[in-house]
Amino acid sequence: MDVTPILESLNDAQRQAVTAPAEPTLVIAGAGSGKTRVLVHRAAWLIDVEGLSPQSLLAVTFTNKAAAEMRGRIEGLLGMPVGHLWIGTFHGLAHRLLRRHWREANLPQNFQIIDADDQLRLIKRLLKNLEIDDSRWVPREIQYFINAQKDEGLRPRHLADEGDPNRRQMIALYEAYEDICQRGGLVDFAELLLRAHELWRDNAELLDHYRRRFQHLLVDEFQDTNAIQYAWLRLLAGDTGIPFVVGDDDQSIYRWRGARVEHIYRFQKDFPAATVVKLEQNYRSTATILNAANAVIANNNSRMGKNLWTEGPEGESIKVYAAYNERDESDFVIARLRDWIDHGNVRADAAVLYRSNAQSRVLEEGLINAGIPYRVYGGLRFFERAEIKDALAYLRLISHRDDDASFERIVNKPTRGIGARTVEAMRSYARANSCSMWRAAGALASDELAGRAANAVLAFINLIETMARDIDGLSLQEQVDHVIHASGLIDFFKKEKGEKGETRIENLLELVSAARSFEPDPLEEMSPLDEFLSHAALEAGEGQAEAWEDCVQLMTMHSAKGLEFPLVFLSGMEDGLFPHQRSIADPDGLEEERRLCYVGITRAKQTLYVTYAEQRRLHGMDNFSQPSRFIAEIPDEYMEEIRPRVLVTRPMRSPSRSSGSTQPGAELGIRLGQRVRHGKFGDGVILNCEGQGAHARVEVNFETAGTKWLVLSYANLDLM
Ligand code: ATP
Ligand code: MG
Repeated sequence: MDVTPILESLNDAQRQAVTAPAEPTLVIAGAGSGKTRVLVHRAAWLIDVEGLSPQSLLAVTFTNKAAAEMRGRIEGLLGMPVGHLWIGTFHGLAHRLLRRHWREANLPQNFQIIDADDQLRLIKRLLKNLEIDDSRWVPREIQYFINAQKDEGLRPRHLADEGDPNRRQMIALYEAYEDICQRGGLVDFAELLLRAHELWRDNAELLDHYRRRFQHLLVDEFQDTNAIQYAWLRLLAGDTGIPFVVGDDDQSIYRWRGARVEHIYRFQKDFPAATVVKLEQNYRSTATILNAANAVIANNNSRMGKNLWTEGPEGESIKVYAAYNERDESDFVIARLRDWIDHGNVRADAAVLYRSNAQSRVLEEGLINAGIPYRVYGGLRFFERAEIKDALAYLRLISHRDDDASFERIVNKPTRGIGARTVEAMRSYARANSCSMWRAAGALASDELAGRAANAVLAFINLIETMARDIDGLSLQEQVDHVIHASGLIDFFKKEKGEKGETRIENLLELVSAARSFEPDPLEEMSPLDEFLSHAALEAGEGQAEAWEDCVQLMTMHSAKGLEFPLVFLSGMEDGLFPHQRSIADPDGLEEERRLCYVGITRAKQTLYVTYAEQRRLHGMDNFSQPSRFIAEIPDEYMEEIRPRVLVTRPMRSPSRSSGSTQPGAELGIRLGQRVRHGKFGDGVILNCEGQGAHARVEVNFETAGTKWLVLSYANLDLM
């Protein structure tokens, strides 16, 4: 048999792993060393050379996208489709099992999957039914408790209250929640895994069937498995299954979701005969990028320790850009992207990474202005996020009472006792009388609706009218700020404790930032609010690339795991943002942030930009921050400051929207806040830049001569 195609372009260690005997194997290696590649080749090897049926393999990856990619690559190597190969995420595979064996799993055939939002709603309803005070028993905390138990494989009966009445109540709520789910045939994400585990644990015959079927268990990103996932694998492997797991302890970034890097050690205990293969050669990044990543991660104490090297070229140095503010940062990133595209590169080869979702807004705005198609990977674009749409719907309704779509979106959000039946009555009234929902609401409330419903509707009408009055005469920013609070949206999301609710609030506050930076067109006859709303509508509709279209990739560092790009930007590298404020005081948290940074740096193949803003308006507030401590951990020899940093001595206006996003004058070293000297006007500070090449102009505030626009090519400015 011709085995060369499969073993081709593998190094010795990789080849050893791919052709390892049918025994448990652990491949532990750093970023870009070919772990995923080895996994793919192992699958192809087993099928093609060892002659196994694709049915006898089970492959687990971290995302659906990765699973699809892996299947494609295996098929590419084999030159044939492998439809029977079970490949997917832990959740996806568990779901498949439960669908097949719903009876044994004690589920109705048509069981429904509920997502985290549904789960939270269910818990709230439960509390209401039990007449439990939800300010004392916070739904989000109950949700967290339940999921954490399930992730550890624990049912209520396994839990002891330890004499703690709080815990007793939590356990009781967990039990009540389980009852509702069981009765309704509802399965949450954590339940998928737990139920699939129990399915095998309690059905010897079934387990035996699957043990015989799946001889080889291939797992990517093993460092991020949680307890129940590990237990599921362990159970399936039994004494006969052959696990082949690949991972990197330095890339464990989901501790906060219950992932335990300790499973790497556990694996070696559970399978003492396991062959451990280390891959040390990196094929992804230039030596400069790799050395920088190695230097950063070396600051972590809890590591297995690896030495990654590359034969690749030294490559360009890492470019560090100290932006004056978040706009300047975005302008800079976009100018570099433009350059990249103009040189004939593929847009999808460029990725802009950030720590938290809200950071995408300014970047998205810049990309839209610059006409560069982009996609927000693994998340929604800013103006498409549910909470942003909610806030905009309030603003629209305030501005146009007859906007039915906005009306329907928020008439009962936050919940105010306007049920589906009332809304339906308004709809038919509106249809029958060819009027808007708003008018229908007014008419019905004073006429046909029953007392309680009528009161609720009147209260809503009153709320909108009052807000409209209250924001009259306020600045755009104040209007948005007022509405997100007065509508009750902020309070509503505050109750949704934890990461998700926090993110929603951050995004809402970011909308205030957006309003503050928005510069209405003085010639426009619309009100600034209307102008802002149409701007938002356009942004939501525009820019998002079609599925087939080549576009720049925007994503959080978490979603970038496992991926690689020739050009990478790590943006927002500021202490407090990254490492995140929450983690700074906690050594374990800080180490996890550093691993995330390691993941970020190692996504880059050739070119890496690191940017930070000295001043950032985020979540509606201005922050002055220090560069991320992780930048300081990169040895100087690998870095290059793009332009000398200038101390900004006074606050500057942000560049006007009309100035475009291409950073005029950047080639000449001109930047906002830059101090300059002019032969005639003396010393000044650059406030604004406009235009390109020979037309580039700057606005300078001279200490004695006042503010002047100068054409750069004539002005002969000295940089100071
Ligand atoms: P991560 O830790 O980020 O998941 P990884 O260890 O899974 O990385 P891969 O994505 O498999 O690494 O490989 C990184 C890059 O190096 C890929 O582009 C891959 O094709 C390439 N590569 C890996 N091994 C070799 C090799 N022996 N020869 C040439 N290219 C290789
Ligand atoms: Mg990988």
